[in-house]
Formats: sequence, C-alpha cells, structure tokens
Amino acid sequence: MTKAHSSPVTLHSALLYSPQFSHYLYGPSHPLKNERLALTFRLIEAYGLLELEGAELREPRLAEEAELLSFHHREYLQALRRADEGASFPSALTWGLGTSDNPIFAGVYSWSLLITGASLSAAEAIEEGGFDFAFNMGGGLHHAHPARASGFCYLNDPAVMIHYLVKRGRRVAYLDLDAHHGDGVQEAFYDTDQVLTISLHESGETLFPGTGFPDETGWGKGKGYSVNLPLYPGTDDGIYLWAFEEIVPPLLTAFKPDVLVSQLGVDTHRTDPLANLSLTLQGYARAVTRVRGMARKWVALGGGGYNLNNVARAWTLVWAIMNYRELDPTIPRKFLETARPFGFTEKSLWDPTATESEFSREAARKYAEKQVGIIKESIFPLHGIKG
Ligand SMILES: [Zn+2]
Repeated sequence: MTKAHSSPVTLHSALLYSPQFSHYLYGPSHPLKNERLALTFRLIEAYGLLELEGAELREPRLAEEAELLSFHHREYLQALRRADEGASFPSALTWGLGTSDNPIFAGVYSWSLLITGASLSAAEAIEEGGFDFAFNMGGGLHHAHPARASGFCYLNDPAVMIHYLVKRGRRVAYLDLDAHHGDGVQEAFYDTDQVLTISLHESGETLFPGTGFPDETGWGKGKGYSVNLPLYPGTDDGIYLWAFEEIVPPLLTAFKPDVLVSQLGVDTHRTDPLANLSLTLQGYARAVTRVRGMARKWVALGGGGYNLNNVARAWTLVWAIMNYRELDPTIPRKFLETARPFGFTEKSLWDPTATESEFSREAARKYAEKQVGIIKESIFPLHGIKG
C-alpha cells in the first residue's frame, strides 16, 4: 500500500489525534464539518500509515486557560466558557459568538481547548519529546482574534502554540498556505522579529477576511517580518508553485528558524466551495514537500477545507509526506465503502489534469508577478536578500 523513499536521516514524527475532534458539530448547514477529521484519520489508517517506523500516534492534551492568555483576553475566554453550554447570552455578539460563521454550539469551548491543546502537544513533541516533525490536522484556526471569534475560529491555536515556542527562546517561521489570509496569527506577531509570518492566499479583494496585502509588513522591530502574497482567483498549480518558490525559500533561508510552523488549509483546491483558487492535490503535495525540505523541526497544522474529498486526501498526503512515504494512487477499497455515506466518492488520490482558460491564467499570472515584485522590493532588502 505504501512505499518508503529515502529520508536524509532517521526522523521521528508525531500524529496528534483524538476521536473527540469530530464529536462537536458546528451545525448541519455550516460549511466546517468536523467529520472531515475522522474521515482523514480513517484514510490514514486504511493506507497503513499508523504503523510506520519512527512515527507515533499521540493523544493530545487540553490547553490550559493560563496558556491561552498569551494571545486571548481573559474576558473573551469567560464569554467562550459561557457559550460552552450551547445557548446564547446577551453580550455574545460583542465577542463574535453566535453569528452564522461562529455559531454557539454545545461544547464550543471544550472543543477549542482540545484543538489548541493538540497544537501545544505537537510543539511539546518537538521540544520535549524528541520528535522532528508533528502534525495536528485539527489545528490551524488562524482567524481568531484576541477578543473575538472570527471565520469559524474561536481560539487561535497557531498563535498560542507559537507563543509557547517563543517563550522557550525559539525563532519561529509561520507559513500559512490556506486560501484565506492568516490574519489572527499575523496580528499576534506584527511587532516582533522573533517570528516571521508568511501567508499565501486568495486576494482580500475577493475573499474573507479582506486583508493580507503586501504592504502589511510589520511594525517597529517587526518591520519586514510579516509577509503577504495575495493571489488572484484562478491561480493554478504552475503559478502558485512559481510564486511560492520566488518568495518562501529565500526568506526561510535568510531567517533560519528553529521551528517551522505551517498551516496547510486545502481550501486552495479548485473544487473548494468557499474560495476561488485553482490548485490540484498534485500542486498541493508539491508545496507541502517543499515545506518539508526547508524544515529542521516542523509542526504542521490543518486549516480550511470544505470539500471532504479533498480534505481527507490532502491531509493523508501531509502525513505521508512527513514520513517520506509514497502512496498507491488508488484509494483503498475498504475505506471507500465506509466513507461513501459522508459523500466521499474519489477513487484516486490524485486529481485529473485541469486546465484554466488562457485568459484567466494570464490574469492570475500577471497578478502574482506583480505581488512577487512588490515583496522583493519591500521585504527582501530588510533581510539582506538580493531580489
Ligand atoms: Zn481558509
């Protein structure tokens, strides 16, 4: 089912997962389906990726409230704890709770503590457990603000986890490949040079949250440490990988992070119902493989992804890539049988070749070239990189 290909050294990897990840539901009409996580786990299992040498499945812990205070406000946490019962209350909307994007559902706080705890557990696996790489597919909830739920996110697990690493003196690079701008994480580290945030996303001109332009470069000591590469609807694998290559490797080489944290949302996929980029899983996998190549210590997180067929395949691929495994392109039959009720119908791990119209491709290419040029001009000199 899987075959190993050469890894440079013996690596130890940790998969943080709990069946509880998918026990809490945003609601029947909400695009974020937590069952995508259980489905992904089952595909990982069906591919035999739970019994790999050097890899370990670990039970995540819950985040503690004191840890959340590194990013979130106490009053907001009180409100979120109150929402845990599943009923609204008078000031809920002040905190962004009870909107159609961020509904109040039973266990919303408990679930958020578990997801954030899993990201902290991933960082601890690296820092204390002797692991090189760790993956929390439930994490990457990058839109939560210090005192406001936003964009399906209640607690900002990447920000809380990066604070944990920074407290231990680590230099951290955060690379966000979700279709949406990683606004909450950028905000958390906007004024520090200890954390480099890079976000590739569909332009804020056409997609939530409307931010993430190249002129958002950081403030004070953090000037040049926030990098934004917006992309035009219709951006395909070729354009995406070109822009990625122009910007990401030079910056990571110059910054030399101790730990690379990546948010690997797969709402960049051409069939994602919420965003308008045009990647295939082949392009996604190539980007993730490049991320692996640039990381000494790597924490990978999930993120957006609203087509279950894509999510399960993409994050199974992430775990395979993390462990230098190549997968049989045919989806295991026993998985397909049980996954069909969830709407999973793909028979292949890979997508058919896709072609954008020349007109749309040209617009996306021109847009990407312009953004890359701006970043090279404004950010690269601050890091001593020759554009
Ligand atoms: Zn997203």
